[in-house]
Amino acid sequence: MSFAARWRIGALLLWLVLACLLPGILGVAVLFAREYRNGRAQLERDLMATARAMAQAVDSQLLRARTVGEVLATSGALNRKDLEGFHRRAREVIATTKVGMNVVLSDETGQQIVNTLREYGEPLPRHGHPGIVRRVFETAQPVVSEIYIGGVLRKPVVSIDVPVIFDAKVAYVLSVGLSPYDFNAILVAQNFPAGWVSTIFDQTGTIVARTPAPEDFVGQKGTAEYIQRISEFPEGVMETVTRDGIPMLSAWSRSSVTGWSIGIGIPRRILEHDLMHTMVWLASGLVTLLGVGLSLAWIAGRTIAASVRALTEPAVALGKGQTVPIPDVGIEESAEVACALRQAGELLAERSAALVAANRELEQLARVDTLTGLQNRQSANERLRMEFLRLKRSGHPYAVLFMDVDWFKAVNDTYGHEAGDQVLRHMATVLTSALRETDFVARYGGEEFLALLSETSADGALRIAEVVRRTVADQPFPVVGQVTVSIGVAIALGEDQDEEAAVRRADTALYQAKEDGRNAVRSR
Ligand code: GH3
Ligand code: MG
Ligand code: MG
Repeated sequence: MSFAARWRIGALLLWLVLACLLPGILGVAVLFAREYRNGRAQLERDLMATARAMAQAVDSQLLRARTVGEVLATSGALNRKDLEGFHRRAREVIATTKVGMNVVLSDETGQQIVNTLREYGEPLPRHGHPGIVRRVFETAQPVVSEIYIGGVLRKPVVSIDVPVIFDAKVAYVLSVGLSPYDFNAILVAQNFPAGWVSTIFDQTGTIVARTPAPEDFVGQKGTAEYIQRISEFPEGVMETVTRDGIPMLSAWSRSSVTGWSIGIGIPRRILEHDLMHTMVWLASGLVTLLGVGLSLAWIAGRTIAASVRALTEPAVALGKGQTVPIPDVGIEESAEVACALRQAGELLAERSAALVAANRELEQLARVDTLTGLQNRQSANERLRMEFLRLKRSGHPYAVLFMDVDWFKAVNDTYGHEAGDQVLRHMATVLTSALRETDFVARYGGEEFLALLSETSADGALRIAEVVRRTVADQPFPVVGQVTVSIGVAIALGEDQDEEAAVRRADTALYQAKEDGRNAVRSR
């Protein structure tokens, strides 16, 4: 089986976290964008509503001034042509109503006749805006002025000019003068946040009042773009740049009664600062979230990978048939696999032990002669080799006894093969009992037996051989009665070429014993 690509657990988990978090992050971003757009639209609506309310406040200020003017225009003193009385009366009204700054009476040429800013009778200049005087005389209607430089004060003023009518003809123009500072109060009362700019424009787009820094702007024209937009739409919102170069979001509202307008501007810097602030918070929140998620995935990945890798050593140990170590893993499933590996290891160990025992048993069986239960020829040869090596290494002497049953062919011939087998079996028990516990005895051939006597001298060997010979001869054997054995004895020597040398000498001695009439012991 082959895999196109392999994944690391840690990498998989990282992708998983990204796959889970990214849609959420995208969602938050989309929600935020929508929230921002909605907030912006709401702000624009609020700004426009405020501008409208302020335009109404300006209108009512102008209207109050017109009312004062119209009341004074019909005063009794004027009717009586008592200009000094009118001067007094006008000062009273200005003082009590607190509407307007002064009252001026001008004739058709624009010459001021009465001005409450001066004592009655003092010489007076011409009306600051003769065009208005002319217009009132022509239309016999009240006029709201644009801002102009007052004739007496030589400062910017605004006036409401109303006709004074005698005998259905305009006799004078009565002007109620208003200071730009009276209008500034309307702006200040709004208490806009720092940085916001609010402005009152007259019908020509000239600045009447402004917060902040009115002194720098009153009397100047609004920007061409602004004047253009005001003339086109009674209210609206636009991105603009102020006369002093500050980019703004501006809302405006124009009064349909006076043509004056209100502009409220919020510097883009302030709007963007709030936006940036929120964005930075949001972004750092999301980055933190992502960071925490990825870190957790990394830790989880490492833990799982470590738990999986911890199984390598037990698996290798299992393969080698060694004791399977139990790894200390942090993952339950890995621990279960480790447990299974350990059980497999134990099972394998059990099986191996059983196999070793069975092998040992087989080996044992392979060395045993099935007829007599003695060691067989193969086992005898191994033992011979072992003893010979011991002799060579450390000089331990040993003797070889080669034994052959006498006239055995005759036993078979006389009593049958089965009886012969019985004799051989009995012979095995007799040999075992006649020899010492430490001696080794094997069935070497048909009716031939071989004994190895460790740490035994030539005399000792002859003595033991004689004991064996006599024991056999004295023993009654089943079926056949008496059986004898001939024995050849040889001592293994350090100078022997191999382990067979001693056996060959014992065989020769055995031959000699047979020659000498059997039931005898001979040595070489
Ligand atoms: P000798 O005294 O010269 O040794 O005479 P012998 O009859 O013993 O001579 P030989 O060694 O030639 O005969 C051995 C006989 O032993 C031949 C064979 O039939 C018999 N024999 C060999 N193995 C077995 C066996 O496992 N069972 C039986 N019953 N007989 C066996
Ligand atoms: Mg024989
Ligand atoms: Mg024989």
